[in-house]
Amino acid sequence: MANINTILEKSTKINSVDWDNLRFGVFFSDHIFMSDYEDGKWDEGNIIPYDSLDLEPANCTLHYGQTIFEGLKAFPSVKGGINIFRPEMNAKRMNKSAELICIPQYDVDNFIQALRELVKLDQDWIPKKRGESLYIRPFVFGSGNFLGVSASKSYKFIIILSPVASYYAEGLNPVKIIVETEHVRAVKGGLGSAKTAANYAASMLAGEKAHQKGYSQVLWLDGVERKYIDEVGAMNIMFVINDELITPSLDKGTILAGITRDSVLTLARDWGMKVSEREISIDEVREAHKKGTLTEVFGTGTAAVISPVGLLNYKTENMIINDMKIGKYAQKFYDTITGIQYGEIEDPHNWIEHIKL
Ligand SMILES: *Cc1c(COP(=O)(O)O)cnc(C)c1O
Repeated sequence: MANINTILEKSTKINSVDWDNLRFGVFFSDHIFMSDYEDGKWDEGNIIPYDSLDLEPANCTLHYGQTIFEGLKAFPSVKGGINIFRPEMNAKRMNKSAELICIPQYDVDNFIQALRELVKLDQDWIPKKRGESLYIRPFVFGSGNFLGVSASKSYKFIIILSPVASYYAEGLNPVKIIVETEHVRAVKGGLGSAKTAANYAASMLAGEKAHQKGYSQVLWLDGVERKYIDEVGAMNIMFVINDELITPSLDKGTILAGITRDSVLTLARDWGMKVSEREISIDEVREAHKKGTLTEVFGTGTAAVISPVGLLNYKTENMIINDMKIGKYAQKFYDTITGIQYGEIEDPHNWIEHIKL
């Protein structure tokens, strides 16, 4: 256990939060956790008031992007206390991302302890409405000041908290997605499996163009043949064809190992569904759509949990999925995962890290 020192905020900002219009990542709680890496080791870390950071113009991350992040949520449990969903997975994934861009590893137990102490301290920031939650954003960045391209020798690990709204005001809203045929996000041997700024930078232009055309996201194809499906950029993607749940495998290292992806696959296997993690080409999806065997397409990610796809555009083709309505599997995955998160239903895989109050 790390010995985390706490400095309390003197004047809370909580009364300036627009609780009826939280949106996503707009408001930030009173405290943050911060740990520094110097001379080859992380310090024990401090909880301090949320405030601006001192950054030199020569900060290496501003120039070369040596930074990684995580995203998870804390929920008010219906049985009292706070439920954090699968934080150990985030701690481990952060270390995998770290490895790929030469950031030092952070102890998994200390990660969870820091999270627990911070969330407990700022518990009043957890929204009370079903569907709403406290989003937790841990991140690490190089804090050195230099212009030569090399890994930083010093780092900061920070956790910030943001009360967020339910992604969909009423039920699950099917979205329109465009298959990206010009730009690429990641290639084998690249950074696609890391939760790092570079992947988001690579996606900005395609995302903007998609928005202008009325789509909410892009679906990325593999960067070499532009043939196989990768992911949606902030979500993994799943297809239901002939009652089989199909999602791209993690083998190529071009997509992120989503924790919601893992949760959905685990539940599907529990339920005896046929599950395949394999290559799936856009042509296979088009064929299945033509034959009428493609019954559902949905994205998976922490923010929305499940995001049904109602329309998939590929070049000149518009594939309407399940009449633009939410499918039965998407609904069942959503209900089960959120039920576990709010403590309404049993948690057979011990996904919940509970904080007693
Ligand atoms: C965060 C993220 C996801 C979703 O992962 P979850 O752990 O389910 O939230 C998918 N793809 C990318 C690129 C991501 O950054």
